[in-house]
Amino acid sequence: MADLELYPASRVNDVAARVRAEGLDALLLTPGADLRYVTGYDAKQLERLTCLVIPSAQPAFLVVPRLELAAAQASPASGLGLELIPWEETEDPYALIAGRLGPVASTGLADQMWALMVLKMRDALPGAKQVLASAALRDLRIRKSAAEIEALREAGAAIDRVHAQVPGWLRAGRTERQVGALIAESILAEGHVQVDFVIVASGPNAASPHHEVSDRVLQAGDAVVVDIGGMMPSGYRSDCTRTYAIGTPPEDFLAYYQVLRDAQEAAFAAVRPGIPAQDIDAAARQPITAAGYGPAFIHRTGHGIGLESHEDPYIVAGNAEPLAPGMAFSIEPGIYPGANGARIEDIVVCTEDGVVRLNNGPRDLVIVDA
Ligand code: ZN
Ligand code: ZN
Ligand code: ZN
Repeated sequence: MADLELYPASRVNDVAARVRAEGLDALLLTPGADLRYVTGYDAKQLERLTCLVIPSAQPAFLVVPRLELAAAQASPASGLGLELIPWEETEDPYALIAGRLGPVASTGLADQMWALMVLKMRDALPGAKQVLASAALRDLRIRKSAAEIEALREAGAAIDRVHAQVPGWLRAGRTERQVGALIAESILAEGHVQVDFVIVASGPNAASPHHEVSDRVLQAGDAVVVDIGGMMPSGYRSDCTRTYAIGTPPEDFLAYYQVLRDAQEAAFAAVRPGIPAQDIDAAARQPITAAGYGPAFIHRTGHGIGLESHEDPYIVAGNAEPLAPGMAFSIEPGIYPGANGARIEDIVVCTEDGVVRLNNGPRDLVIVDA
């Protein structure tokens, strides 16, 4: 059954094997997605050092501030048989790690380690070459296990339930911010433990892909891009966009929305193992370019998702990496002519012989009464 666990106890050893294969002497993981991936521990990001050390040639150990020891013991990390090493306020945890490791020539640092810690690690381990931990972790994290895909499926279903309520909240006279507040509440009510982002982009704001919310009042004839996501108790993320219209949108909008709908479908249909990531981007771009909206599709087609909202693989021109079973990523083409805009986004998973979607709400334009 171990392979059905989200955070299997065997993972520390799998990572240690990758550390050796990459020729690194140790991996140093501070709080964030890398640490959580290896241990399940959702540790707080603090100026006080928490660090999982995975040496190539000795057992892994977890260094924690004394006042975080109880939290570490209560976390999934305590079930992994790791030595927990608390440090007191007057101690230097960097020197403690250096003393334990002995001489090292190279370390892999969590990709999102704070510069504060990177530089202190460099001082404590002078001469050790510092590389990104993703050198060792990327191949593991990029292909999701059955349990991880199940966690992403639960996240997708939760955000679909939020989108199902959005048409009831969109009406002329409300502000983007008011609708955004209702959505944020619902993201938590539907099972997430954290709201990652809420984009309610109406009218001309819809032409700005990362607009969040504003005090703009929704009006009849608006297209509204709603892109929302959060973190589930599992640590895995949701991310889904639907575009809605309030009353009758402009003719040209209806025309390019259909182009976008076709583009998102074409990209989805192109996913299978072995196909380069950039080909999915090309599949989405082709119908949009053919319809004359190429310059209005101003971002990549998608990004990987898991313990982070944006991670490898990126679905973008120039990324020739072949897709493989277990890769989870977004397909989110958009068209942003200026007066308005539209995007459709689903999370999908590459399977042994094709693809499945983890978001299943309607993709045809939903028009609500003004
Ligand atoms: Zn985005
Ligand atoms: Zn999104
Ligand atoms: Zn996205």
